[in-house]
Amino acid sequence: MSKLRCSNCDKDAKVVRGSYPFKESGLNVVLQGIELVRCKSCGNEDPIIPRVDDLMRTIAIAVIMKPYQLRGEDVRFLRKYLRMTGAEFARLMDVDKTTLSKWENNDDVVGSQSDRLIRLTVLGLGEGLREKLDEVIRTVFPNIRRTGAKTAPKVGIEIDPKKLTHQYI
Ligand SMILES: [Zn+2]
Repeated sequence: MSKLRCSNCDKDAKVVRGSYPFKESGLNVVLQGIELVRCKSCGNEDPIIPRVDDLMRTIAIAVIMKPYQLRGEDVRFLRKYLRMTGAEFARLMDVDKTTLSKWENNDDVVGSQSDRLIRLTVLGLGEGLREKLDEVIRTVFPNIRRTGAKTAPKVGIEIDPKKLTHQYI
């Protein structure tokens, strides 16, 4: 155990292993079994996130392979994964910025074709995702469930940052 200080109160903190709700992603993602700097004094926990690029890619894959229609936060995460502005991404999707904004805020459901176009675009342009293209088209596309509800169902994602695997919860 190394000597560490809490980023919140500056008291002594120590490293423990646990799960961490990765709210910074904007998604309902839980990172399993990662190291956390935990402070007994104030209860603050800071994750030690290893290999951030690999982790973000694993989350992007989990979102793209989700067998449910994309939600607003999924679209936003994927757009940011491409490091694109709303205007840039809207232009690629051939929708106006308002439409994209409505999607991202769950004010409007992403249509079935737009959903697939988004997944394909991110697979094509996203760092390290192209190898998944075939699998997604053949095994994910036929199985994307649409509920007909006004908003797509919320599905949580558990990530094992060591194995870089995901599962839905
Ligand atoms: Zn503290």
